[in-house]
Amino acid sequence: MQAWNRLSISSPYIGRFAPSPTGPLHFGSLVAALGSWLDARAAGGQWLVRMEDVDEPRCVPRAETAILRALEAFHLHWDGEVLVQSQRKEAYAAALDLLKREGHVFGCACSRKDIEGDRYPGTCRNGTSGRPARSWRIRVPAEPVVFHDRRLGDFEERLEETCGDVVLLRADGYFAYQLAVVVDDAAQGVTDVVRGADLLDSTARQIALHRALGNTPPRHLHMPVVVNAAGQKLSKQTKAAAIESTQAEALTYEALAFLGLNVDSANVAAMLAQATARWRVDS
Ligand code: GLU
Repeated sequence: MQAWNRLSISSPYIGRFAPSPTGPLHFGSLVAALGSWLDARAAGGQWLVRMEDVDEPRCVPRAETAILRALEAFHLHWDGEVLVQSQRKEAYAAALDLLKREGHVFGCACSRKDIEGDRYPGTCRNGTSGRPARSWRIRVPAEPVVFHDRRLGDFEERLEETCGDVVLLRADGYFAYQLAVVVDDAAQGVTDVVRGADLLDSTARQIALHRALGNTPPRHLHMPVVVNAAGQKLSKQTKAAAIESTQAEALTYEALAFLGLNVDSANVAAMLAQATARWRVDS
Protein backbone atom coordinates (compact mmCIF):
# COMPACT_ATOMS: atom_id res chain seq x y z
CA MET A 1 0.00 0.00 0.00
CA GLN A 2 1.28 3.45 -0.91
CA ALA A 3 2.41 5.77 1.85
CA TRP A 4 -0.40 8.21 1.13
CA ASN A 5 -2.84 5.74 2.59
CA ARG A 6 -1.10 6.09 5.93
CA LEU A 7 -2.22 8.72 8.35
CA SER A 8 -1.28 9.38 11.93
CA ILE A 9 -4.44 10.11 13.80
CA SER A 10 -4.08 11.83 17.12
CA SER A 11 -7.43 13.60 17.22
CA PRO A 12 -10.98 12.73 16.16
CA TYR A 13 -11.33 12.48 12.40
CA ILE A 14 -14.08 14.20 10.43
CA GLY A 15 -14.07 13.79 6.66
CA ARG A 16 -16.55 14.76 4.00
CA PHE A 17 -17.72 14.23 0.44
CA ALA A 18 -18.89 17.47 -1.12
CA PRO A 19 -20.49 16.91 -4.52
CA SER A 20 -21.95 19.73 -6.59
CA PRO A 21 -25.45 18.68 -7.72
CA THR A 22 -24.86 19.67 -11.35
CA GLY A 23 -25.65 16.13 -12.52
CA PRO A 24 -25.58 12.50 -11.38
CA LEU A 25 -22.47 10.85 -9.90
CA HIS A 26 -20.07 9.37 -12.47
CA PHE A 27 -17.14 7.00 -12.03
CA GLY A 28 -14.77 9.89 -11.13
CA SER A 29 -17.10 11.11 -8.39
CA LEU A 30 -17.46 7.52 -7.13
CA VAL A 31 -13.67 7.34 -6.74
CA ALA A 32 -13.67 10.65 -4.83
CA ALA A 33 -16.52 9.50 -2.59
CA LEU A 34 -14.90 6.12 -1.95
CA GLY A 35 -11.47 7.62 -1.18
CA SER A 36 -12.84 10.01 1.41
CA TRP A 37 -15.19 7.35 2.85
CA LEU A 38 -12.35 4.82 3.22
CA ASP A 39 -10.00 7.33 4.81
CA ALA A 40 -12.68 8.31 7.33
CA ARG A 41 -13.83 4.80 8.12
CA ALA A 42 -10.27 3.43 8.40
CA ALA A 43 -9.55 6.24 10.87
CA GLY A 44 -12.67 5.35 12.86
CA GLY A 45 -13.94 8.82 11.98
CA GLN A 46 -17.12 10.43 10.77
CA TRP A 47 -17.94 10.88 7.10
CA LEU A 48 -20.22 13.78 6.20
CA VAL A 49 -21.96 14.59 2.95
CA ARG A 50 -22.41 18.20 1.89
CA MET A 51 -24.40 19.36 -1.15
CA GLU A 52 -22.38 22.11 -2.78
CA ASP A 53 -25.16 23.92 -4.60
CA VAL A 54 -23.71 27.36 -3.84
CA ASP A 55 -23.47 28.05 -7.59
CA GLU A 56 -27.25 27.75 -7.90
CA PRO A 57 -27.51 28.61 -11.62
CA ARG A 58 -25.36 25.53 -12.44
CA CYS A 59 -27.33 23.09 -10.29
CA VAL A 60 -29.84 20.66 -11.71
CA PRO A 61 -33.17 19.91 -10.01
CA ARG A 62 -33.29 16.35 -8.67
CA ALA A 63 -29.50 15.85 -8.92
CA GLU A 64 -29.26 16.08 -5.13
CA THR A 65 -31.72 13.23 -4.60
CA ALA A 66 -30.07 11.16 -7.34
CA ILE A 67 -26.63 11.61 -5.71
CA LEU A 68 -27.88 10.61 -2.26
CA ARG A 69 -29.71 7.56 -3.63
CA ALA A 70 -26.57 6.51 -5.53
CA LEU A 71 -24.42 6.82 -2.39
CA GLU A 72 -26.89 4.62 -0.53
CA ALA A 73 -26.94 2.06 -3.35
CA PHE A 74 -23.14 1.92 -3.22
CA HIS A 75 -23.24 1.42 0.59
CA LEU A 76 -21.54 4.76 1.22
CA HIS A 77 -23.56 5.70 4.28
CA TRP A 78 -22.94 9.09 5.80
CA ASP A 79 -23.13 10.42 9.34
CA GLY A 80 -25.59 13.10 10.43
CA GLU A 81 -27.61 15.47 8.31
CA VAL A 82 -26.62 16.48 4.79
CA LEU A 83 -25.56 20.14 4.86
CA VAL A 84 -26.94 22.08 1.88
CA GLN A 85 -24.99 25.17 0.87
CA SER A 86 -27.92 27.10 -0.61
CA GLN A 87 -29.30 27.16 2.96
CA ARG A 88 -26.08 28.52 4.46
CA LYS A 89 -26.08 32.08 3.10
CA GLU A 90 -26.27 33.66 6.56
CA ALA A 91 -23.09 31.86 7.62
CA TYR A 92 -21.27 32.98 4.45
CA ALA A 93 -22.49 36.57 4.95
CA ALA A 94 -21.28 36.51 8.57
CA ALA A 95 -17.84 35.28 7.46
CA LEU A 96 -17.65 38.02 4.82
CA ASP A 97 -18.66 40.62 7.44
CA LEU A 98 -15.91 39.41 9.75
CA LEU A 99 -13.38 39.70 6.94
CA LYS A 100 -14.69 43.21 6.15
CA ARG A 101 -14.37 44.30 9.77
CA GLU A 102 -10.82 43.00 9.88
CA GLY A 103 -9.89 44.71 6.63
CA HIS A 104 -9.11 41.53 4.65
CA VAL A 105 -11.55 42.19 1.79
CA PHE A 106 -12.33 44.96 -0.67
CA GLY A 107 -15.06 45.79 -3.17
CA CYS A 108 -13.98 45.26 -6.75
CA ALA A 109 -15.43 47.06 -9.78
CA CYS A 110 -13.71 44.96 -12.44
CA SER A 111 -15.65 42.77 -14.84
CA ARG A 112 -14.15 39.67 -16.39
CA LYS A 113 -13.07 41.61 -19.46
CA ASP A 114 -11.15 44.14 -17.33
CA ILE A 115 -8.87 41.30 -16.18
CA GLU A 116 -6.41 39.75 -18.57
CA GLY A 117 -5.89 36.03 -18.06
CA ASP A 118 -6.69 34.17 -14.85
CA ARG A 119 -4.73 36.34 -12.44
CA TYR A 120 -6.37 39.33 -10.80
CA PRO A 121 -3.75 42.11 -10.79
CA GLY A 122 -5.00 43.90 -7.67
CA THR A 123 -6.68 46.79 -9.56
CA CYS A 124 -9.21 47.71 -6.83
CA ARG A 125 -7.11 46.87 -3.77
CA ASN A 126 -6.89 50.54 -2.86
CA GLY A 127 -10.27 51.66 -4.15
CA THR A 128 -12.46 51.46 -7.23
CA SER A 129 -11.72 55.02 -8.50
CA GLY A 130 -15.39 55.90 -8.22
CA ARG A 131 -16.63 52.85 -10.13
CA PRO A 132 -19.39 50.85 -8.37
CA ALA A 133 -18.19 47.65 -6.66
CA ARG A 134 -19.55 44.48 -8.32
CA SER A 135 -17.89 41.78 -6.25
CA TRP A 136 -15.90 41.33 -3.03
CA ARG A 137 -12.39 39.92 -3.00
CA ILE A 138 -9.99 38.87 -0.27
CA ARG A 139 -6.50 40.34 -0.40
CA VAL A 140 -4.20 37.32 -0.69
CA PRO A 141 -1.08 37.21 1.48
CA ALA A 142 2.22 38.41 0.03
CA GLU A 143 4.08 35.51 1.64
CA PRO A 144 3.79 32.02 0.10
CA VAL A 145 1.17 29.59 1.37
CA VAL A 146 2.94 26.38 2.37
CA PHE A 147 1.02 23.12 2.72
CA HIS A 148 1.48 19.38 2.72
CA ASP A 149 -0.55 16.89 0.72
CA ARG A 150 -0.47 13.31 2.08
CA ARG A 151 0.04 11.81 -1.38
CA LEU A 152 1.70 14.56 -3.38
CA GLY A 153 4.02 16.06 -0.77
CA ASP A 154 4.91 19.66 -0.01
CA PHE A 155 3.67 22.70 -1.89
CA GLU A 156 4.42 26.37 -1.75
CA GLU A 157 2.28 28.84 -3.66
CA ARG A 158 2.45 32.60 -3.98
CA LEU A 159 -1.18 33.46 -4.56
CA GLU A 160 -0.34 36.98 -5.73
CA GLU A 161 1.47 35.37 -8.64
CA THR A 162 -0.89 32.48 -9.42
CA CYS A 163 -4.41 33.86 -9.05
CA GLY A 164 -4.33 37.18 -7.20
CA ASP A 165 -7.08 38.33 -4.85
CA VAL A 166 -9.89 35.78 -4.67
CA VAL A 167 -13.59 36.54 -5.25
CA LEU A 168 -15.76 35.71 -2.22
CA LEU A 169 -19.02 37.37 -3.26
CA ARG A 170 -19.65 37.26 -7.00
CA ALA A 171 -21.02 40.04 -9.18
CA ASP A 172 -24.23 38.03 -9.68
CA GLY A 173 -24.83 38.04 -5.91
CA TYR A 174 -23.91 34.41 -5.20
CA PHE A 175 -21.20 33.54 -2.70
CA ALA A 176 -18.15 31.93 -4.27
CA TYR A 177 -17.31 28.25 -3.87
CA GLN A 178 -13.99 29.14 -2.17
CA LEU A 179 -15.76 30.95 0.67
CA ALA A 180 -18.55 28.39 1.07
CA VAL A 181 -16.21 25.40 1.24
CA VAL A 182 -13.97 27.03 3.85
CA VAL A 183 -16.82 28.28 6.04
CA ASP A 184 -18.52 24.88 5.90
CA ASP A 185 -15.39 22.80 6.48
CA ALA A 186 -14.73 24.90 9.58
CA ALA A 187 -18.36 24.83 10.78
CA GLN A 188 -18.51 21.04 10.39
CA GLY A 189 -15.16 20.53 12.14
CA VAL A 190 -13.69 18.80 9.08
CA THR A 191 -10.18 17.59 9.91
CA ASP A 192 -9.43 15.90 6.57
CA VAL A 193 -10.22 16.97 3.06
CA VAL A 194 -9.87 13.99 0.72
CA ARG A 195 -10.81 14.82 -2.88
CA GLY A 196 -9.62 14.66 -6.48
CA ALA A 197 -6.35 16.27 -7.53
CA ASP A 198 -8.31 18.57 -9.86
CA LEU A 199 -8.98 20.60 -6.69
CA LEU A 200 -5.30 20.89 -5.73
CA ASP A 201 -5.29 24.34 -7.37
CA SER A 202 -7.84 25.59 -4.86
CA THR A 203 -5.99 24.35 -1.78
CA ALA A 204 -3.62 27.28 -1.15
CA ARG A 205 -6.50 29.73 -1.63
CA GLN A 206 -8.62 27.82 0.85
CA ILE A 207 -5.81 27.63 3.40
CA ALA A 208 -5.24 31.40 3.12
CA LEU A 209 -8.96 31.95 3.65
CA HIS A 210 -9.04 29.61 6.67
CA ARG A 211 -6.17 31.60 8.19
CA ALA A 212 -7.86 34.96 7.54
CA LEU A 213 -10.95 33.60 9.33
CA GLY A 214 -8.86 32.38 12.26
CA ASN A 215 -9.40 28.65 11.54
CA THR A 216 -6.89 25.83 11.66
CA PRO A 217 -6.87 24.47 8.09
CA PRO A 218 -7.66 20.75 7.61
CA ARG A 219 -5.18 18.12 6.35
CA HIS A 220 -5.32 17.39 2.63
CA LEU A 221 -5.16 14.28 0.48
CA HIS A 222 -5.67 14.73 -3.25
CA MET A 223 -6.34 11.51 -5.10
CA PRO A 224 -5.54 10.72 -8.72
CA VAL A 225 -8.17 11.97 -11.14
CA VAL A 226 -10.00 9.54 -13.41
CA VAL A 227 -9.70 10.44 -17.09
CA ASN A 228 -11.44 9.10 -20.18
CA ALA A 229 -9.77 7.58 -23.26
CA ALA A 230 -9.12 11.11 -24.59
CA GLY A 231 -7.29 12.01 -21.37
CA GLN A 232 -10.07 14.34 -20.17
CA LYS A 233 -11.27 14.43 -16.57
CA LEU A 234 -14.64 12.69 -16.25
CA SER A 235 -17.30 15.33 -15.82
CA LYS A 236 -20.67 16.44 -17.02
CA GLN A 237 -18.89 18.52 -19.71
CA THR A 238 -17.03 15.46 -21.02
CA LYS A 239 -20.30 13.50 -20.95
CA ALA A 240 -19.27 10.98 -18.30
CA ALA A 241 -21.91 8.29 -17.78
CA ALA A 242 -23.96 8.22 -14.57
CA ILE A 243 -23.10 5.32 -12.27
CA GLU A 244 -25.93 2.77 -12.21
CA SER A 245 -26.81 1.05 -8.97
CA THR A 246 -27.39 -2.19 -10.93
CA GLN A 247 -23.62 -2.19 -11.53
CA ALA A 248 -22.65 -1.40 -7.95
CA GLU A 249 -20.45 -4.52 -7.54
CA ALA A 250 -18.47 -4.06 -10.75
CA LEU A 251 -18.06 -0.31 -10.35
CA THR A 252 -17.03 -0.57 -6.69
CA TYR A 253 -14.46 -3.21 -7.64
CA GLU A 254 -13.08 -0.98 -10.41
CA ALA A 255 -13.04 2.16 -8.25
CA LEU A 256 -11.17 0.32 -5.49
CA ALA A 257 -8.68 -1.01 -8.04
CA PHE A 258 -8.19 2.56 -9.26
CA LEU A 259 -7.31 3.49 -5.66
CA GLY A 260 -4.78 0.65 -5.53
CA LEU A 261 -6.95 -1.76 -3.52
CA ASN A 262 -7.64 -5.23 -4.90
CA VAL A 263 -10.49 -7.00 -3.16
CA ASP A 264 -11.90 -10.46 -3.74
CA SER A 265 -15.34 -10.24 -2.14
CA ALA A 266 -18.53 -10.72 -4.09
CA ASN A 267 -20.75 -8.00 -2.70
CA VAL A 268 -20.32 -4.29 -2.13
CA ALA A 269 -20.55 -4.30 1.67
CA ALA A 270 -17.90 -7.04 1.94
CA MET A 271 -15.65 -5.28 -0.59
CA LEU A 272 -15.87 -2.07 1.43
CA ALA A 273 -15.09 -3.89 4.66
CA GLN A 274 -12.04 -5.51 3.05
CA ALA A 275 -10.89 -2.23 1.54
CA THR A 276 -11.32 -0.39 4.85
CA ALA A 277 -9.12 -2.95 6.58
CA ARG A 278 -6.48 -2.56 3.86
CA TRP A 279 -6.56 1.23 3.78
CA ARG A 280 -3.75 1.56 6.29
CA VAL A 281 -4.08 4.14 9.01
CA ASP A 282 -1.28 4.40 11.53
CA SER A 283 -2.56 5.59 14.86
N1 GLU B 1 -18.05 20.63 -4.82
C1 GLU B 1 -16.75 20.43 -5.37
C2 GLU B 1 -16.86 19.60 -6.63
O1 GLU B 1 -17.80 18.85 -6.78
C3 GLU B 1 -15.80 19.69 -4.44
C4 GLU B 1 -15.34 20.53 -3.35
C5 GLU B 1 -14.34 19.87 -2.42
O2 GLU B 1 -14.28 18.64 -2.30
O3 GLU B 1 -13.65 20.64 -1.76
O4 GLU B 1 -15.99 19.70 -7.47
